[in-house]
Amino acid sequence: MKETFLYAHLTWPEIRDLKKDHLVVVQPFAAIEDHGLHLPVETDCLLINAISSAAVRKVGKNVLLMPLIPYGYVEHHMDFPGPISIDGHHLIGYLAGALKSLARHGFRRLLVANGHGSNRAFMDAAARMVMDETDAIVGCITPYSLVRNEIKKICESQFISHAEELETSLVLYLDETLVDMTKRVKEIGFPISKFHWRSLIEAPPLSFVDRWSRISESGVVGDATVASREKGEKLFNVIVDRFAELIDDFMHREIKPNIDHH
Ligand SMILES: [Zn+2]
Repeated sequence: MKETFLYAHLTWPEIRDLKKDHLVVVQPFAAIEDHGLHLPVETDCLLINAISSAAVRKVGKNVLLMPLIPYGYVEHHMDFPGPISIDGHHLIGYLAGALKSLARHGFRRLLVANGHGSNRAFMDAAARMVMDETDAIVGCITPYSLVRNEIKKICESQFISHAEELETSLVLYLDETLVDMTKRVKEIGFPISKFHWRSLIEAPPLSFVDRWSRISESGVVGDATVASREKGEKLFNVIVDRFAELIDDFMHREIKPNIDHH
């Protein structure tokens, strides 16, 4: 059924005729990679698509959802079978190309919704280039970081990183047939330091990303054994609500004209 909030469902005259001044275009961006012994490799794609789609529906008007970009930067996971990694330079160019295309069609408020921690650096670089080369404003958000306090309250484990309590609970809520409950594990394999840790919601002061096989045998970083569908429902709703608020804020942000002072 045709959905008018889906960019891919529109015809070119419909895209031409959209009032674009305050229209926000949300581009979900994720990755295909190992997610422990119990979750599918599409976990990041599934989650960010569902979160973005629900947030866009909640906002209701003046917002469009782009088709998901399913591949990201997962080079550090390539010791595991399954991940599909795109070279960093290509990834910046690919994402920038998609965003610039939108800017060329007159869209001025572009929002990249990221579902995979290691996409951040490349997403930020692409967004920055498109900001400076077009008339659009380009925002980047990993929606989990919007509700880090709520996540800490709902989750029992303090390690929110990968294929753990948060991601497992969310997949359980969205489609529990995708989760093999018998294979969930707890694994905190990275050296604990006050300067560096692994987190999907809070960047450490000392940033680097270790090869995954050095810090996890199963692929899990965190505790998947305490995940539940009930937590997933709470987490999903709080993430979607805050993300919808952010879209609304971005929609109403004033864009002043740039002035050439030469
Ligand atoms: Zn993930």
